[in-house]
Amino acid sequence: MKSSGNSRPSLGAGRFRGNGGLEESGWTFRKLLDSLPVPTYTCDREGLITSYNERAVEAWGRTPRLNDPADRFCGAYRLYDTDGTLLPPDRCWMALALRGDSECRGGEIIVEREDGTRRTVMENICPLHDHAGELIGAVNVIEDITDLRLAEQALRDADRKKDDFLALLAHELRNPLAPLRNALHLLSLDNNTETSRKRAQGMMERQVEQMVRLLDDLMDAARIARGKLVLQKERIDITNVVLNAIEDVRPLIQQSGHRLEVKLPPGPIYVDGDSVRLGQVFANLLTNAAKFMPAGGDIWVGAVQREEEFVVVVRDSGIGIPAEMLDRIFEPFTLVDSTEHRAHGGLGVGLSLARGMLELHGGGVDATSSGPGLGSAFTVVLPTLPSTEQPEAMPIPRIRRIPGVNRQRILVVEDNADSAISMVLMLELMGHEAKAANDGLAAMSLAEDFRPDVVLLDIGLPGVDGYELATMMREQPWGQRIFIIALTGWGHDEARRRAVAAGIDLHMVKPVEPAAVESLLAGLQRNIS
Ligand code: ADP
Repeated sequence: MKSSGNSRPSLGAGRFRGNGGLEESGWTFRKLLDSLPVPTYTCDREGLITSYNERAVEAWGRTPRLNDPADRFCGAYRLYDTDGTLLPPDRCWMALALRGDSECRGGEIIVEREDGTRRTVMENICPLHDHAGELIGAVNVIEDITDLRLAEQALRDADRKKDDFLALLAHELRNPLAPLRNALHLLSLDNNTETSRKRAQGMMERQVEQMVRLLDDLMDAARIARGKLVLQKERIDITNVVLNAIEDVRPLIQQSGHRLEVKLPPGPIYVDGDSVRLGQVFANLLTNAAKFMPAGGDIWVGAVQREEEFVVVVRDSGIGIPAEMLDRIFEPFTLVDSTEHRAHGGLGVGLSLARGMLELHGGGVDATSSGPGLGSAFTVVLPTLPSTEQPEAMPIPRIRRIPGVNRQRILVVEDNADSAISMVLMLELMGHEAKAANDGLAAMSLAEDFRPDVVLLDIGLPGVDGYELATMMREQPWGQRIFIIALTGWGHDEARRRAVAAGIDLHMVKPVEPAAVESLLAGLQRNIS
């Protein structure tokens, strides 16, 4: 049993003295007992209860029985030590205090009430004496610390889950590093053939893509948890979204030798949704179906329109999901703990993201499985829009016009020298003229001479940060007509708002895809021609 000893506040000068005895202490003692905000009772030296307050009745779950041997040392209850072992009543804190004529401060014990509920309490016992100093009983002031202990346990569980997650994250982030390192080594060899160079490059692209996806998922999970995920909702044909997701995952399905059968009702079926986010949901379900299945399995995608709902089922003949995990797999960072499932890695964020995104659309997703080895099915439900309404026109993005040159002058402002150089090289390969500056002041003086058409601006710069630099550039005569693209590691709304306020035209989350930069620059050129 645990006693917190001196850390607890004192009950008085060691002895609770009545007016010669409990019976004689009169209304002062009674009033004191009733005014205490915690369960309190007294007993005689044999442990028979002699008085109690209302709080004690609540804590007991019934009225304590006065002078009744059944309630002696709480004998009507099961008592447990903090480690969970059953404790005989005559070894409870009250029995020990009476036997030793000693105080007990903060003695912890678990009490199982008659209705089976368990409470963890902390007891503060003070022996009582008569005029002659003879022990006549004791008073016990009890604190119910059940909620505190539960909260502590929850914190410990969360802490363990965090440690498990960090270990998993480290593992998942380290996974792509070995192939990346090998590919770099391959590229550095003199006897490199064109084929081996291309293979190494392909390998690096795949691994970088995997890391980017992992980090994007993590950031989305954080946004959903904080209620910060902003959807770009519009009237969209959901059948198209499903078909596009299938096309995205088809290479993986084919690589694994799976068969795919798709049965969708004829579109369009409209929902008010974010096509990118919903596409992500279906791609995730299809990727999981392809992943958690031995080669040569079957995937079925079926959908129906039911009254005002669109229902899609993604079913596979894979390794299946144990019944007790069917709901839990939608919790963030939760994986099925089996060798077969673990073999596929992952952080366990995909399904929690899918459910979060569907709920933001007023829909949901559930899983069923006949058990391990018997495949799984995921059912997505989304509310539909009436088909009679005409689709709204697509919003036209605001793009600032820039001078009509094919070859654009691009200033890269980035403090990481490797990132800056690789970006400049990439832009030059795309046919542009590019220069790099590593901080804000260098960027300003370079821009004076270079007069860029486009600035690719890192926000987290030392000294003058990206927002300040953009504002400074916009104040210059030559700064009015440049197109400023902010590249940041942060995609949250606040960053976007600050970017707009600083006169930044576009905000891209790092690491940006070279293809995305290329098509953006081409788009800028088209806009001016
Ligand atoms: P991750 O993002 O790591 O892929 P998910 O959240 O998508 O994780 O999935 C969580 C877990 O649910 C997976 O690790 C796997 O154990 C289980 N799971 C998901 N889809 C399937 C499926 N189609 N078949 C069997 N298990 C699945």
